[in-house]
Amino acid sequence: MRKKVIAGNWKMNKMLSEANQFLVETANKVPNNDHVEAIVCAPFPFLASLVEKAKGTSLKIGAQNMHYEEKGAFTGEVSPSMLKDLGVSHAVIGHSERREYFAETDESVNKKAHAAFKHGLTPIICCGETLEQREANETMNHIASQVKAALKDLSESQIAETIIAYEPIWAIGTGKTASSEEASDVCTHIRHVVKEITSEATAEKVIIQYGGSVKPANIDELLAQSDIDGALVGGASLEPESFLQLMEAG
Ligand code: 13P
Repeated sequence: MRKKVIAGNWKMNKMLSEANQFLVETANKVPNNDHVEAIVCAPFPFLASLVEKAKGTSLKIGAQNMHYEEKGAFTGEVSPSMLKDLGVSHAVIGHSERREYFAETDESVNKKAHAAFKHGLTPIICCGETLEQREANETMNHIASQVKAALKDLSESQIAETIIAYEPIWAIGTGKTASSEEASDVCTHIRHVVKEITSEATAEKVIIQYGGSVKPANIDELLAQSDIDGALVGGASLEPESFLQLMEAG
């Protein structure tokens, strides 16, 4: 039985005091059991403080991006070893906003996935199609190619620990959620793709999240689908109350 993993992606929101206050209101209230895991993926400047505030609770702290190199002349970048050193446990990799605005490619996503494992971080690897691709019936091929490229040359045990987030681009921040059937079809397809490149046992272990306008009102139906193991949530993860409500569904 896979656990449910609910990750908030704050994107470029909040000030430090607001981020800290969010932790005060949530960290002790997230479930402390084997069935649900709660993660907040916050902007880099808040991470050290949030890790400190989450200590002794079940809330995990993640980054929204990272570089794949360990150190060096990469002005403005943050390395996986820096994140690990802070006590960060997860990193979102290849979010569609990074692919669109910051030239993230399948190749850099794959390098980051390798780097995450090398430094003991769990990658949350994002994939998703545009509306044009969906309308042209290219969704399944596109997702398969993104997933295969992202996981290239990872070991089977690393793949088993990877979190894959399916986020249709047309559903992000639009209020337009994929129907649970649409989301479920693609998440099942992702599990097939993972099985193709590894084994059934590994594919059964991989956590596959859905993301795109998830909120307390629609998360139950999404998580009721057998291949949807959690959610990557933007807008609805910003307020303590709705973030905690998302956990209840898990
Ligand atoms: P929204 O939940 O705001 O649609 O954002 C989804 C997302 O991009 C999470 O990574």
